[in-house]
Amino acid sequence: MIPEFEVTILGNTSSIPVHGRNHTAQVVRFGQECLLLDCGEATQIQMRKYKIKSSKISHIFISHLHGDHYLGLIGVLSSYHLSKRTQPLTIFGPQGLDEIITTHFRWSNTRLSYPIEFVQTKADSLNLLVDLPRFAVYSFPLLHRIPTTGFLIREKKGLRSLIKEKLQEKKIPLEAIHELRQGRDYRDSDGQDYRAEDYAYPQPPLRSYAFCSDTIFHPEISGFIQGVDLLYHESTFMEVDSKRAKDTFHCTAIQAAEIARLSGVKRLLLGHFSSRYADLNDMLTEAQTVFPHSVLSEEGSTYPILSDYE
Ligand SMILES: [Zn+2]
Repeated sequence: MIPEFEVTILGNTSSIPVHGRNHTAQVVRFGQECLLLDCGEATQIQMRKYKIKSSKISHIFISHLHGDHYLGLIGVLSSYHLSKRTQPLTIFGPQGLDEIITTHFRWSNTRLSYPIEFVQTKADSLNLLVDLPRFAVYSFPLLHRIPTTGFLIREKKGLRSLIKEKLQEKKIPLEAIHELRQGRDYRDSDGQDYRAEDYAYPQPPLRSYAFCSDTIFHPEISGFIQGVDLLYHESTFMEVDSKRAKDTFHCTAIQAAEIARLSGVKRLLLGHFSSRYADLNDMLTEAQTVFPHSVLSEEGSTYPILSDYE
């Protein structure tokens, strides 16, 4: 069975939360696993609003320490404590995040009901953060005013489904079934060959998702995210404000679209919109002039990560 792989947007605004838009946060679900990417101010409220089971989140990833990307974290962690969570939680983030969390709970005299493991990210190259049987999570460097990483989630090969009719034709040794499900050929003691391509359905294409939170236009990013199926990329400004984008180490919609084009992704999800734009339709049009498969992210919407969007 192919696990569902999807992302729910909880917040997609930059700096000031206005126009009904909230600070950056999103939940990626892969089968039973839930990951939280960034944790802006209203994250726990948004999770409740959009019926995300926050207790299922096993890993939290913080891209950088600008407040609009992590100020909701203490709230989420405190609510876990109040609901008597015992399941361990791993938090990935830049240097300093562990100090911020520890300082808060020290001065609030709170001993959390669950263990937190903190893993410091490095904005230097592609780094493997999580390696689970069906997917892996990597960080990669973005170029922003402070150390910042994006996150890449890649599906891994699963067991192949066997072709029932073929199995009914003759009795197949148990060891052969094990090998065929792994996609490997098998030869039994009598020299009888069982080829995976005859007995198992082909491996479906492996899916991938990349999250680029805050960054100046930085074409080198495309080396880390080549060919991902869905790319979320910040799109803070429209072209008329491109100087402001450069000065603040952010991107315009056209630049986000250019990264999508250079990276050969299938779909681009735009986010991190500046509060200066109430209406985003013109921004979308700008992006689509460079990359037609651009979409405006919407809070509360869930986007499937597919190998084929046709
Ligand atoms: Zn930032």
